[in-house]
Amino acid sequence: MSVRVRIAPSPTGNLHIGTARTAVFNWLFARNQGGTFILRIEDTDQERSRPEFTENIMSGLKWLGLDWDEGPFYQTERMDLYRAAVQELLDKGLAYPCYCTSEELEAMREAQKANKQAPRYDNRHRNLTAEQRAAFEAEGREAVIRFKIDDERVIQWKDMVRGSVTWKGSDLGGDMVIARRAPAGTIGQPLYNFVVVIDDSDMEITHVIRGEDHIANTGKQILLYEALGKTVPLFAHTPLILNQQGRKLSKRDGVTSVADFEAQGYTSDALANYMGLLGWSPPEPMTERFTMAEAAEAFSFERVNKAGAKFDWDKLNWLNSQVLHAVPSEELVEELLPLWKAAGYEFDGESDRPWLLELTELVKPSLVKIKDCVEQAALLGHAALDMQDAAADFLKQEHGAGILQAVLDAVSASESWTPDEAKALIKQITKDLGVKKGVVMRSLRAGLMGALQGPDLMQSWMLLNQRGWDVKRLEQALAVAKS
Ligand code: GLU
Repeated sequence: MSVRVRIAPSPTGNLHIGTARTAVFNWLFARNQGGTFILRIEDTDQERSRPEFTENIMSGLKWLGLDWDEGPFYQTERMDLYRAAVQELLDKGLAYPCYCTSEELEAMREAQKANKQAPRYDNRHRNLTAEQRAAFEAEGREAVIRFKIDDERVIQWKDMVRGSVTWKGSDLGGDMVIARRAPAGTIGQPLYNFVVVIDDSDMEITHVIRGEDHIANTGKQILLYEALGKTVPLFAHTPLILNQQGRKLSKRDGVTSVADFEAQGYTSDALANYMGLLGWSPPEPMTERFTMAEAAEAFSFERVNKAGAKFDWDKLNWLNSQVLHAVPSEELVEELLPLWKAAGYEFDGESDRPWLLELTELVKPSLVKIKDCVEQAALLGHAALDMQDAAADFLKQEHGAGILQAVLDAVSASESWTPDEAKALIKQITKDLGVKKGVVMRSLRAGLMGALQGPDLMQSWMLLNQRGWDVKRLEQALAVAKS
């Protein structure tokens, strides 16, 4: 049996992180098994479905590297198939029209509430006589189509994540609506729990892998498979994604869609990697940092946890930094340059290329997100110093001007300034002026960078020197020191 799985998002919003994680698990399983991964757009909710959400979902899946082998299939294009299946159930006597009005259903719920009973449909129109039906129709009532659910049934399946799951027929809420209200004699729009079964069976889905929030639907769907004489697929219900408080991750947690994460500066590799870890743990000797290809090789449902998966920002950030640190500088610079340019830094992409590569090497080890490069390079973005008060105050102390003057003289006299020369000079100044090395270093940092903290001083100095910015800055700082 060849494995066929699917992701079936509803285009009623942007690609949600929960859906994306489900897609990751489906994709990993399909690739592990040499199976087929199918994309189905569940757009039956025509009021809330929008083409731009479909677009967002597809581009998000592609961005994450979750390529699909078949589809997209759209449910709105398959309505005839669903209606024919509803008709089949009607013909078999397994479904029937229910003429209850909203008011009647509401009154029924109120009565159940008053008796402290769980709300359910009491199957009151299950056994109407032909005369009763005719009477309702004569009143002009419309009808939904309900599928008969046997309260005595116990539904059981072996979930690939949760093990044996049992659901009582009596807990399914009574005979279920499978098609919306429509004029008597016609079949209204078929509903989610029904069309999923038709689609999964028509598309020969072997494993239904989806979020745990669908677990209550599975009981109903198994009954539908049986009623239609179709093969019941295997099910895997993946754990929910929880926030730090242990509640379902929601809009209140700031980011919910894949596009939100992208906008925040996360790489697709890190996000896909992280979603792989939301519920699955890779076997030894794999570490938590992996590519999707590596994960596909090792993936199995045995290592999927049934407890909810807590969203851990630190881990995502760590993964993102790992991904960025591994990008070759020649590639990374192409991503950093537009950000640096947008920040107004005096960099020329053409003539400064070797210099920009060195700068990339300097900032790379401290990048968590790509946009951090703006801050990391801020002190090197302009020829002129942007002197901070603390740095200026430091330079105005006793030896500030003397140190800067000595440095300036040495740098100006040198043809090509090297780290070795710089170190020798620092030693010399310490001796000549009788000051501690720390004071010389801080003065240098203040004079070259205009701040008392920042990236590696020697590397920064060499970068400034290559552009002649060190001399300019030291002159500027000297004036401050003397003021
Ligand atoms: N359309 C459903 C959703 O977006 C998925 C249904 C399923 O996977 O069976 O939650």
